[in-house]
Amino acid sequence: AREYERYRDRTPNSAEMAEELREVVPAGVCSTFRAYEPYPIHADRAAGTTIYDVDGNELLDFALNNGTQLVGHTHPELDDAVVEQIDRGTLYTRPSDRLEFAAQPLIDRWDAIEQVRFTNSGTEAVMHATRLARAYTGREKVIRMEGAYHGAHDPALVSKMPPLEQAGPADDPRRVRESQGVPESVPEDVLLAQYNDAESVEALLREHGPEVAAILVEPACLNLGLAEPEDGFLERLRELADEYNVVLLFDEVKTGVKLAPGGGAEYYGVEPDIVALAKAIGGGYPVGAFGGRREIMERIAADLDDGVATGAAHYGTYNGNPLVLCAVGVTLREILTEDAYDHVSDLNERLAAGYRDVIEDAGLEAQVKTAGSQGAVHFTDEPIRTFRDWQHVDEEFHEAYWIGMVNRDVVPHPHDASQQWTISVQHTAEEIDAHVEAFADLATHLFM
Ligand code: PLP
Repeated sequence: AREYERYRDRTPNSAEMAEELREVVPAGVCSTFRAYEPYPIHADRAAGTTIYDVDGNELLDFALNNGTQLVGHTHPELDDAVVEQIDRGTLYTRPSDRLEFAAQPLIDRWDAIEQVRFTNSGTEAVMHATRLARAYTGREKVIRMEGAYHGAHDPALVSKMPPLEQAGPADDPRRVRESQGVPESVPEDVLLAQYNDAESVEALLREHGPEVAAILVEPACLNLGLAEPEDGFLERLRELADEYNVVLLFDEVKTGVKLAPGGGAEYYGVEPDIVALAKAIGGGYPVGAFGGRREIMERIAADLDDGVATGAAHYGTYNGNPLVLCAVGVTLREILTEDAYDHVSDLNERLAAGYRDVIEDAGLEAQVKTAGSQGAVHFTDEPIRTFRDWQHVDEEFHEAYWIGMVNRDVVPHPHDASQQWTISVQHTAEEIDAHVEAFADLATHLFM
């Protein structure tokens, strides 16, 4: 309660803006995830690793727009390139040299990607990748992991984080529609397995194999903080996909270019058939992409026959616009270099070590995880392997931690216990130490 009071005291202008905005924008935000109690911090501007809010607070940013800004905010090289592109036009709806500029680094980074198409978001990337998998296999059902987030399209809102009391047994989960407006028919094509339980995937394939188009999985489940694949899990999914002629579709919207240059596929050494990408590949510009082997990608309709797509349709006015492609190319070619990856993973380990020390000193029950540029703290006594383990997480405690950190000028990760921090190429060792100091202060004042 004291931390909430302090939050309100520090942010009167955010409170006022929230009230005004709620008049013109439902809940005052443009993504349901962004609304939280008592109200979100409203931004004035962002630069480098800092968010400047409308109350004059300067917040060290480790949320980085849901981890999108691995390059940090206002990266000078990216800004210069984008400004130059603005002078050349922002939208052509026709191919240009920017297309190869953005596509090639993705092809270079993923062995599985021989060709790639661009979209405007991760939702679109996963949606189109799924349609492509269906077109390629001629089947309709998709196996997904309970508790994983794959975007805002209808099937992705089935059991992304269902209330446990509605979720049914782990070995036969209920398909919970988590939004009004999702048609009753949508869950029919969604088959739910458990992350880190290849047997649950195999059981579904044994029963529904000839109807299954794809196994859709995040290499590391980043809707559960940071749940990593146990040894053999992704490898077994690869085997099962081959055995049942099913597409292995990696959702690398969050893991792509963040766990390693070639995402989770490289980090965990398992090759998917199709990869969906977004977020960090664009350095903060709205983008998505999906790619795979030529043989699969060629199922994307090349043209229309009497108005009907000759393969999987992929349309979009803003797809592959030169402004965003310029941002992708510069981000991947110029900014996310090998040195940049070394820098962020070194700082990530420094942050994790700091957290572990404070946790030990304070006698807290918590797990600290890191992978590549991302990390998470779970206030629980047990590791999180599957969605069902999520019930051990003390979300109320986590909420107090998040608000308390913001009160100490650090946004530790996006609001919600299920999220993780990102270290950007612009963070410094001093900023990592400031993050740890804020946590140490919080631990002495709040948790002891
Ligand atoms: N897939 C995953 C794993 C995500 O984390 C997200 C967004 O957080 C999406 C898909 C959807 O991406 P977007 O928000 O760009 O539509």
